[in-house]
Amino acid sequence: MEKSLIYQEVLKYVKEGVYFVDTNRKITFWNNTAEKITGFTAAEVLNKYCYDNILNHVDDEGTHLCQQGCPLHRTMEDGHNREASVYLHHKQGYRVHVMVRTYPLYDEDRLIGAIELFSDEKPPMQLMEEIEDLKVLAMTDQLTEIANRRYTESFLSGKLLELEEFKTPFGVAMIDIDHFKAVNDTYGHDAGDLTIQMTAKNLVNAVRSSDLVGRWGGEEFLVVFSAVGINQLQQITERMRMLVETSSVQREGSDIRVTISIGSVFVEKPLSKDRIIQMADQLMYQSKLEGRNRITSATLD
Ligand code: GH3
Ligand code: MG
Ligand code: MG
Repeated sequence: MEKSLIYQEVLKYVKEGVYFVDTNRKITFWNNTAEKITGFTAAEVLNKYCYDNILNHVDDEGTHLCQQGCPLHRTMEDGHNREASVYLHHKQGYRVHVMVRTYPLYDEDRLIGAIELFSDEKPPMQLMEEIEDLKVLAMTDQLTEIANRRYTESFLSGKLLELEEFKTPFGVAMIDIDHFKAVNDTYGHDAGDLTIQMTAKNLVNAVRSSDLVGRWGGEEFLVVFSAVGINQLQQITERMRMLVETSSVQREGSDIRVTISIGSVFVEKPLSKDRIIQMADQLMYQSKLEGRNRITSATLD
């Protein structure tokens, strides 16, 4: 078999789409992956010109590269390899994002065309970043951009393990906005949302970087304090209460002000997660009964 034919046979099966054009940009080779990515079979494209409404590359801005800036064409003009991010036209009409690389093809010293390799696989780094983004998304509450309930629970489980293993005490606070229904009723649901966001920001600003503020439900938050002392726990929960009390949301000429009721537990001995949460909830409810805008605390040992 002629040497170039052997190459072509091998190139048929590589993981990237591969095609050759001659100096007139007539397609002279089209591998199996190119068929897969574009939907066009070799029989449909061989001996056609690549600007014949086949691939019709456009760049990120929608510029048609066949008319100007075709990477293959430019590679043949200046002999340089190129790499580009383009969208090509699939036979079924939609566009496919591919990374293309183009190389000039020489026979001895004579330019005989160019080769284009294209891949629809995401580069590994981009994939990693997308997975990281998805992970963050799965842990985050959309309205407040703090931890969601599921992640908060798993963070709490982590603290329980630390307590068992290293005897590190920690704290948990259940927090509920006082008379929040009145905010919704008076100013509307959107203003209510802004108030929840304001409260979340204040809670985050009050804690240390090792603590976690999570949205537990509607206008309820659960805060987990890592390796905290009992005095420090009191200080931080008091700071939360104070920051919310002294904040306001400006809305259509009104200052919306709210307060929070807190139930805080200091955990020194391993207990079930449910028991800890239930206790924090009861203490929070006691704060409500005693007039709201206050902290009720206990030690679980
Ligand atoms: P209390 O002081 O006893 O806590 O009184 P409250 O009015 O805050 O009572 P409760 O905690 O039961 O009320 C919660 C209200 O929060 C009910 C619900 O309509 C509202 N809510 C829940 N989730 C959201 C939300 O995402 N956005 C808005 N705007 N309102 C919400
Ligand atoms: Mg509530
Ligand atoms: Mg409430």
